[in-house]
Amino acid sequence: MTVQIMKKGIKVKKGQTAMDALRQGVPHWIHHTVKNDSYVDGVMYLPQCECSECGYVSNQEKKVCPHCGAKMVNW
Ligand SMILES: [Zn+2]
Repeated sequence: MTVQIMKKGIKVKKGQTAMDALRQGVPHWIHHTVKNDSYVDGVMYLPQCECSECGYVSNQEKKVCPHCGAKMVNW
């Protein structure tokens, strides 16, 4: 599953469920990816993730962001 945060705020767009919109409005880890066609998704997930709130990069999903203290939601 690829989660991409384009902008803040909860907006439900066409073709998107309310749940999808909600996901984008809560703090979570954004995994770094690189394009790699040999993978099913076309992307390879890197062992790094980024806080959706402050952009802090961690190599591990933590329950709380060590930088801004946002409680992370693990989907
Ligand atoms: Zn943070």
